[in-house]
Amino acid sequence: MTEQIKLAPCPFCEGPPCIDAFDFITGELLAEDRPQSEDLDEYYSAHVWCHDCGARGPDINSCTLGTFEHQFGLTVMQLMRIAAERWNDRHANARSAYDLSEAAGRNLFPGNDDVESGPCN
Ligand SMILES: [Zn+2]
Repeated sequence: MTEQIKLAPCPFCEGPPCIDAFDFITGELLAEDRPQSEDLDEYYSAHVWCHDCGARGPDINSCTLGTFEHQFGLTVMQLMRIAAERWNDRHANARSAYDLSEAAGRNLFPGNDDVESGPCN
């Protein structure tokens, strides 16, 4: 049995989090107790989302985890667990990129025509 984890509240509105998993190809909603497929080409995705405002946590999928993190054969439950852990992982790892963008005047919307394009445009 997967160890329980308490999901943190939404970082935007403090609303209650929900978690869903999908077939990576068809988008079909999957049950968390779906047994592992014999088909190694069957991939899943999962993310946590806020029931109140709809904000989403990182989209976790078994294709990317296999390719870049060499994690293979994950069940839907294991993938959902990773999505829950990433939802709860609040950090400021990219703050320096934001600060550099701020110093360059790129954090305004709409942007200024005289400012060089930033990471989002
Ligand atoms: Zn929210």
